[in-house]
Amino acid sequence: MSENVSSLLYIVSGVLFIMALRGLSHPTTSRQGNMYGMVGMGLAILTTLVGHPPSGAGAWVLVLLGLGLGGGAGAVIAKRVPMTAMPQLVAAFHSLVGLAAVAVAAGALYAPQAFGIIENGHFHKQSLFEMGLGVAIGAITFTGSVIAFAKLDGRMSGKPIMLPQRHLINALLAAGLVLLLALFIGTESKGLFWLIVILSLVLGGLIIIPIGGADMPVVVSMLNSYSGWAAAGIGFTLGNLALIITGALVGSSGAILSYIMCHAMNRSFISVILGGFGGDTAVAGSGQVETRPVKQGSADDAAYIMKNAERVIIVPGYGMAVAQAQHSLREMADMLKKEGVDVKYAIHPVAGRMPGHMNVLLAEANVPYDEVFELEDINGEFPQADVAFVIGANDVTNPAAKTDKTSPIYGMPILDVEKAKTVLFIKRGMGSGYAGVENEVFFRDNTMMLFGDAKKVVDHILKAF
Ligand code: NAP
Repeated sequence: MSENVSSLLYIVSGVLFIMALRGLSHPTTSRQGNMYGMVGMGLAILTTLVGHPPSGAGAWVLVLLGLGLGGGAGAVIAKRVPMTAMPQLVAAFHSLVGLAAVAVAAGALYAPQAFGIIENGHFHKQSLFEMGLGVAIGAITFTGSVIAFAKLDGRMSGKPIMLPQRHLINALLAAGLVLLLALFIGTESKGLFWLIVILSLVLGGLIIIPIGGADMPVVVSMLNSYSGWAAAGIGFTLGNLALIITGALVGSSGAILSYIMCHAMNRSFISVILGGFGGDTAVAGSGQVETRPVKQGSADDAAYIMKNAERVIIVPGYGMAVAQAQHSLREMADMLKKEGVDVKYAIHPVAGRMPGHMNVLLAEANVPYDEVFELEDINGEFPQADVAFVIGANDVTNPAAKTDKTSPIYGMPILDVEKAKTVLFIKRGMGSGYAGVENEVFFRDNTMMLFGDAKKVVDHILKAF
């Protein structure tokens, strides 16, 4: 295959990746988007294999083994993983992208002829720069993602660990990396290459350790962005157009997603990176136990109130995802609609544990898209609503975000559920949400707590209907 043809095919796969991103931006087109992405990746792999075939049977066996084992493991994991564990899975996968960038750069360093980056016994300076930068970003992504995975999966405390002088240490490490990179380009020393790897691995860990559980999804998307830039850097070394395009797409989309999440939480990107928000309760899901009395109701009470309501706004959150209550919830909404009740869903941009988490679950339960509203479109309707039905959400309804300057969620826009005539709050107990802060809405006169697993409570309400 000529270079021109393979470049053209790589551009076609790049266009398919862009169409995939476009498709994934809405639940109605997301399957199609996934399909474009798969075809694009298949085309890129085939073009690489035909354009630069592995030399010899042994290399073919290795490539096919890698494809089979990697693809097989990916398929099994994707089938098995619950939606609630998706953020840590993404973090784990990013760590592999980082590791791959390190492995490819090392491959290029030890077999430069295969990559055409050496002339008269000396590396091209530009290739040394790409290799050094790619390997540094890859190694930072690797350890950073492993720690993000451990925190999100509850294998490590979600509490921010504040090391003394951490900003100074990180700045010194970063400066050391720049120096090593310059020396590596000048000397072509393999020892310096591995020193860059070691320093970057340490820096990746140190950057992520102080970041609290609640900020972890932002960090995961930031690492996603890093892994993209690492891949793009390695794409330049390999002279592979598909890798450059894909890396740039992943890098920029991850950066945009981080920005959107920070904006939705009213946090600056710098404050997330500097760490400190979110506590142990964050990863455990709930922590503080409150002793003040609350008004408690039963499924029968809830069914009675909602049947007699005109307008009900449903506010789903992380607890709905844990309980997998979305199907029962849709059945409940269908019943209410039959009774002539106007039912809408209010989605907070950071409800759940990843962007679009609630939209995906509601789409899976076939909730009509025209009943689902974003925060800014529905917030003004709570004062007219008879019932705000909060199912497994907590932080995204917490008025402390508006009133308490000392609260870690201060400034985050929230859904004004407390303005509805009645607030029905489903959760298992008095535990706090991800940010580990108490919610005053539980104690308001117009709030009725419905304690229990979200799915079980909704099923009981359905029976009570
Ligand atoms: P949340 O504040 O974490 O609260 C979820 C609540 O669900 C908990 O208080 C828990 O209370 C309850 N719960 C857990 N399992 C349950 C079950 N089986 N049945 C019923 N209730 C259950 O959730 P949220 O309101 O969705 O807020 C999301 C949080 O994640 C925010 O702090 C946001 O900043 C953060 N975050 C999200 C993203 C994102 O992209 N979505 C990104 C970054 C940060 P009990 O333990 O008492 O049941």
